[in-house]
Amino acid sequence: MARRLDPHDPLPFDERDVVVVGGGQAALAVGYHLARELRNTEATVALFDDRPGPGGAWGGTWDSLRLFSPAEWSSLPGYLFPRHLAGRDAEAAEAPHRDDVLDYLAAYEARYELPVWRPVRVTGVRDDGERLRVETDRGGVLARAVIAATGTAAAPHVPDVPGRGAFGGVQVHSSAYRSPAPFVGKRVLVVGGGNSGAQILAEVSAVAEASWVVERPPRFLPPDVDGRVLFDAATARYHAIQNGEDPGRPYGLGDVVQVPPVREAREAGRLDDLRPPFARLTASGVVWPDGTAEAVEAVIWCTGFRPALGFLDGLGVVGADGRVAVEGTRSTAEPRLWLVGYGQWTGFASATLVGVGRSARATAREVARSLAPVPTP
Ligand code: FAD
Repeated sequence: MARRLDPHDPLPFDERDVVVVGGGQAALAVGYHLARELRNTEATVALFDDRPGPGGAWGGTWDSLRLFSPAEWSSLPGYLFPRHLAGRDAEAAEAPHRDDVLDYLAAYEARYELPVWRPVRVTGVRDDGERLRVETDRGGVLARAVIAATGTAAAPHVPDVPGRGAFGGVQVHSSAYRSPAPFVGKRVLVVGGGNSGAQILAEVSAVAEASWVVERPPRFLPPDVDGRVLFDAATARYHAIQNGEDPGRPYGLGDVVQVPPVREAREAGRLDDLRPPFARLTASGVVWPDGTAEAVEAVIWCTGFRPALGFLDGLGVVGADGRVAVEGTRSTAEPRLWLVGYGQWTGFASATLVGVGRSARATAREVARSLAPVPTP
């Protein structure tokens, strides 16, 4: 069962064989597989999550968010995403709501009694000889293996556009966007041509004068095609690459799925006002590449995320690109460290609900093997 700590409680232990940093879907999938891999051992495991409740980053997304992956493509290992959603709302199984995922993840960690401790923030990890020392805001813990599963939501990315600091209007990253209410009647630019940009623009454009700033025209999946096609295509692509074949590019995970609100906005022509990236921001607006200035009251950055790995700085394993060099999911420089769920570089489709299971299982197996006593000759 998840363990809630009161504000000043220290952790009731100072060592664990395995520490998983994070409590979102990636950490839960790892926890599930660790429980299986270690079931006949006395190895101890703890998951540390800095959020007050279950759900990871899903708890911080905008109110109306709809998944691009249908329910049957949104399951973690061992427990299917509930099909009963279809009974609640005809559209929900095709494009589940953010709250459905929150309920699912809460049920998942309770079902498997995963040892998630929260809120516990990991502030650093350092080499302590035979073990790694995990520093938290509730005290330090020695660990034989550490699995980072902190996602990317804590590290929103905004491009370094000139004049950003001078802009007097509202700037918000998609990770902090909640609803269109603050933008009613305003001149708004939504930057970024992926699913976040499309969904946020769909609702902001209903109440504001909004344009879509994109590097290239967004690629929409056909309206009758849902997110499962993305996963099928991505899987085919993965196998093609594995087999040394030309993967082609039928669809990609960045293509825009026409969940119902996006489809409606598109049909109403509200996603048509495409603009190229602006050259700079000014105090009152933007300057477009052709030199024309335009007054703008708000910019919503739907420009993605970087791995939230600041707590690993002390190990010296995080590169200039914000990533850690890995073989599979294991750090090549620090063999007691694994990373799960950050995107393709830590496993195929590992930043999705259905995709993370594969890397989680492989990681748990490796970790279990690394803990096993070396056989005596
Ligand atoms: P998170 O959910 O971010 O969990 C990490 C947890 O670790 C968080 O609770 C965080 O607070 C905590 N943490 C971070 N740092 C520390 C620290 N130092 N100490 C302790 N705890 C820490 N995927 C799909 O499969 N289908 C979809 O339709 C879909 N739609 C998406 C729509 C949007 C807008 C976004 C942003 C993502 C979407 N995804 C979707 C992708 C993916 O499922 C999420 O990004 C997912 O939340 C990543 O899970 P995670 O466990 O890796 O990270």
